[in-house]
Amino acid sequence: MNKKWGELEGIQPTALRMLKNSIVKDRVAHAYLLEGSKGTGKKEISFLFAKRLFCLNPHEHEPCYECINCKRIDSGNHPDVHFIEPDGLSIKKEQVQYLQAEFTKTGVESNKKLYIINHVDKMTVSASNSLLKFLEEPTDGTYAILLTETIQKLLDTIISRCQVISLRSLTEKQLAEQLMNHNLSRADATLMPYLTNSITEAIELSEDEWFGLARKLVIQLYEVLTTRPQQALLFIHEKWVPHFKEKEQAHIGLNLLMLLYRDVLTLQVEEEPMIIYFYKEDHLKSHALQATQQKIIAKIEVILRAKNKLNSNMNIQLLMEQLVLDLQEG
Ligand SMILES: [Zn+2]
Repeated sequence: MNKKWGELEGIQPTALRMLKNSIVKDRVAHAYLLEGSKGTGKKEISFLFAKRLFCLNPHEHEPCYECINCKRIDSGNHPDVHFIEPDGLSIKKEQVQYLQAEFTKTGVESNKKLYIINHVDKMTVSASNSLLKFLEEPTDGTYAILLTETIQKLLDTIISRCQVISLRSLTEKQLAEQLMNHNLSRADATLMPYLTNSITEAIELSEDEWFGLARKLVIQLYEVLTTRPQQALLFIHEKWVPHFKEKEQAHIGLNLLMLLYRDVLTLQVEEEPMIIYFYKEDHLKSHALQATQQKIIAKIEVILRAKNKLNSNMNIQLLMEQLVLDLQEG
């Protein structure tokens, strides 16, 4: 939550340039809408902007990060900065009304007030209407930052009253770098961007014991399939089925397996291949040399079909038996 300007600019250059301009030219809008998928830094950017707005010693567009206001915003304790998130599944009218009541008072410590609403698309209809009134009549010194992953769910009337800043999704490589900064191992940091684009989720997964074992089993299954396919069914019964019991777990297993074949295909077609399972590179390389591209693509399709069947509630064991038979062929 406490990334500095330069770090966030490296991830979201366009958005940060827009904010920098509005600060330097003294044209800060009353309401910003930051939209972008999970992990694009919406919350971090809004807190950075809050710090700049309330900082006692700002330097041009940048807050000092050191003063009492910067520190209180980082710890969520500034009396004039309000952060709202869904209470359960939605943001309720009472939450917006609470804000409105707060905003009729003047700032506790300054003449400014800021509210940040996370997942603003999750507002109930009556909460949206209350917010709309709020946005229609901005008073001096009140600022809003709305955050959303799904701008298409917002009322046009809300969007039109905000300056919209679109955040771009991170590339797998950028996300991997972020994860390395969060102390994930190279193996985890390289893999996670293909499973989630949320840094928080990636960190949780990397710490999850079930997931760690799941990955080992997937690699073992791949090795069985490519070196001693006649043992694949036995492997499914003895090792796979007991570990991947739930549908969600089976999905993760199939995704991990598909990424191995994706690696093989990448080795076949890319000049500078970025391998996810780089610690298995020798094995993947020899597979890439032995099989044709068409065969690898066919195997990826087989796994995709299995994922679809999983969605239609097919029995996991039957599905995996069929899958390994299909993957053994050719
Ligand atoms: Zn400061």
